[in-house]
Amino acid sequence: MDTPVVGRFAPSPSGRMHLGNLFSALLAWLSARSAGGRMLLRIEDLDPDRCRREFALQLMDDLRWLGLDWDGTPVWQSERTALYADAFSRLEGRGLLYPCFCTRAQRLAASAPHRGDGQETGCRCKCLTETERAALARTRRPAWRLTVPGREISFTDGLQGPYSENLLRDCGDFILRRSDGVYAYQLAVVVDDGLSGVTEVVRGSDLLSSTPRQRYLQELLGFPAPRYAHVPLLLSPGGRRLSKRDGDLDMGALRARFSPEELTGRLARLAGLQETNAPVSPRALAGRFSWEMVPRADIVVQPETFG
Ligand code: GLU
Repeated sequence: MDTPVVGRFAPSPSGRMHLGNLFSALLAWLSARSAGGRMLLRIEDLDPDRCRREFALQLMDDLRWLGLDWDGTPVWQSERTALYADAFSRLEGRGLLYPCFCTRAQRLAASAPHRGDGQETGCRCKCLTETERAALARTRRPAWRLTVPGREISFTDGLQGPYSENLLRDCGDFILRRSDGVYAYQLAVVVDDGLSGVTEVVRGSDLLSSTPRQRYLQELLGFPAPRYAHVPLLLSPGGRRLSKRDGDLDMGALRARFSPEELTGRLARLAGLQETNAPVSPRALAGRFSWEMVPRADIVVQPETFG
């Protein structure tokens, strides 16, 4: 028998949800619900500087308003530090982690040059002797990095197809705990998806390049690998990714302009699930959802569609 599907929403409450977040959330919900699966909600509020409780409560209200429900009680990452600490110490106990004292500027300078996504991946701290590290530790708190292997980590994304990265060449040793003690997204996401039995991860294609790192952590921590579908990003006509800056497309503005069915109808058209903007409920769409219909390339949103 097939394992029952468990999907999840994993929003970061750093502002009001906008059209792009909602598009990914709708597809994640449709994928799980159309298979009769469960849907979980996890609030990714690990970064205290960026995340606020009011945003989390607002985004729950926005999801419910559209008709995107979830099972059980939402999980808050800010309450799960002990679980991340446990995974961290298991990796540390295996000698896979090392402290990094590099400044942000040094890390950026050492990042793999072709990567170009602003991720800080390179690091020189491995060259330090124990004595040099101990001297630095007196004045600075280190970040902690995971030593990555020089082999291909490959998987087939449900929408984007085969994807592969050699973590050593393409990424470098990445941070699992920041110097301020906050556990990194990469670690938390793997621990949480693993412990909650998530079987499929549907999210924006901006996270495709994080997936090999997450696959590697799943391997190390003994979690089964979920299926992945990285959905297209929504772009403005200028080709820029829609973001919180596009205030006219945030949920406050959208809720003032449309009913839940009107908004879902427009999102469904963008997702290739229907030919017109005809109003429809997520529940009705789940009855005819298929990944075959969803485009893989990013989608330009014409302002008049949501204006
Ligand atoms: N919290 C992340 C975000 O809002 C998503 C993480 C994930 O889906 O793995 O971009």
